[in-house]
Amino acid sequence: MTQLDDNVAKLSGYLARFRTGGIPNRIAGQDTAGAGGVFQSVSPVDKSVICDVARGTAADIDAAATAAHDAFPAWRDMPAKERRAILIRIAEGIEARAEEIALCECWDTGQAYKFMSKAALRGAENFRYFADQVVQARDGQHLKSPTLMNITTRVPIGPVGVITPWNTPFMLSTWKIAPALAAGCTVVHKPAEASPVTARLLVEIAEDAGLPPGVLNTVNGFGEEAGKALCEHPKVRAIAFVGESRTGSMITKQGADTLKRNHLELGGKNPVIVFDDADLDRALDAVIFMIYSINGERCTSSSRLLIQDTIRTEFEARLVERVNNIRVGHPLDPATEIGPLVTQEHYDKVTSYFDIARQDGATIAAGGDVVGDTGYYVRPTLFTDARNDMRIAREEIFGPVLTSIPFTTEDEALHIANDTPYGLTGYVWTNDITRALRFTDRLEAGMIWVNSENVRHLPTPFGGVKASGIGRDGGDWSFEFYMEQKHIGFATGQHKITKLGATAPQ
Ligand code: NAD
Repeated sequence: MTQLDDNVAKLSGYLARFRTGGIPNRIAGQDTAGAGGVFQSVSPVDKSVICDVARGTAADIDAAATAAHDAFPAWRDMPAKERRAILIRIAEGIEARAEEIALCECWDTGQAYKFMSKAALRGAENFRYFADQVVQARDGQHLKSPTLMNITTRVPIGPVGVITPWNTPFMLSTWKIAPALAAGCTVVHKPAEASPVTARLLVEIAEDAGLPPGVLNTVNGFGEEAGKALCEHPKVRAIAFVGESRTGSMITKQGADTLKRNHLELGGKNPVIVFDDADLDRALDAVIFMIYSINGERCTSSSRLLIQDTIRTEFEARLVERVNNIRVGHPLDPATEIGPLVTQEHYDKVTSYFDIARQDGATIAAGGDVVGDTGYYVRPTLFTDARNDMRIAREEIFGPVLTSIPFTTEDEALHIANDTPYGLTGYVWTNDITRALRFTDRLEAGMIWVNSENVRHLPTPFGGVKASGIGRDGGDWSFEFYMEQKHIGFATGQHKITKLGATAPQ
């Protein structure tokens, strides 16, 4: 038996209960059918139906928001050490079921096991990290003034909505839900309709770890239906959203009437800039990793390569050779580097750019076609001879597709890098430290790495500028979103209070 056969057999065991019973919503610790009936979750590997999934409507969101509202006071007031212990047990539960999570995630989303096995553990790490912040999260400051002792504290904002996308959905859900729970908020989670399976595993693990009913509720369904209702619900105080920029704009509009606080983590068209003085071997590895890992379905991917013209021919030739070697295959095969794209709709979108590239006059130097027709497989693709005004350089393709654009001078590179509506990440390769300092200072991005691929460190701020988002996650920044600052001033003496109406009018 190969490792692939072994993984397929294990997956079949894990999915058996969903195939027969479907995936219900989870509200106040109870399984509930969706008021809108069911929809089907389809695997991108072979287009087979995985299972029925509850289709949540405004009625389900109302039930979940009410459950989160009712569970909030007790969760907020639970001693921090007890809340911390539950979060640690959730991390342990994720670790214990990491293989199940990874295999289900691969089947549901098409992501390669090579990457998803680590993503499940990253989810556990998120819970551990924020569990360790629980005790201090509400600490404030004493700010003494001449007449008052001023105290600031932080209190959890209340029930929050978490709306997540289908790319690495388990890890991204934990990235939002762990700090929300650590802050003392209760949560209604609306996972992406294309990837419902591991959201179900997460709520099961959380309840098994002792999370009280109603603290985390999961309502499946469509964005325009369940997602919209969540944004509009008056009992939900804030929405933590990860997804496309245009959806982020809708989230803002939908939350306007109830004055929602929104945290938006949105799309990107991120540049990686390679100067001719860089360590080109390492730059090549990083350029390839940051667009072809995770199927290129990654908000932080470097989808625009800005390459200095002095090294362009050689660098692109090496790139083509490596890209053609990337293994496209069954996501449960541990050797696979790229699996199928998540849905028919997304496959149609990504493959449409092959013609768009040709029409715009770019060269398809590698890939540019599909692989078989059993699932949504595409070849890793490289466009060269591109300009930054082409659609392949401006639009987020969100697949294993890289657009290479030449530049001559540093100023030109900076202009091209910033000439985009987005501003999530940037990657700079140079051995000139002065240039790196100068360049990163002027690069419009929320997160920049110099001579490195994206290596996430949880205490650092995560988020984008321009159309890539509003707000930051990570470290204490997460608590800024999920908590309210409160000021209390205590008089320390008998300071003068201006008297009004102390004397009768003449
Ligand atoms: P999407 O915006 O289509 O959907 C994301 C979620 O929003 C889903 O759960 C969907 O059901 C819901 N939704 C859709 N319309 C809604 C509405 N009107 N109201 C409320 N909810 C609604 O995004 P996607 O296609 O699932 O994910 C890919 C996108 O996510 C890419 O643009 C990618 O860059 C972005 N992303 C960003 C980050 C980041 O940290 N910046 C991380 C991962 C993904």
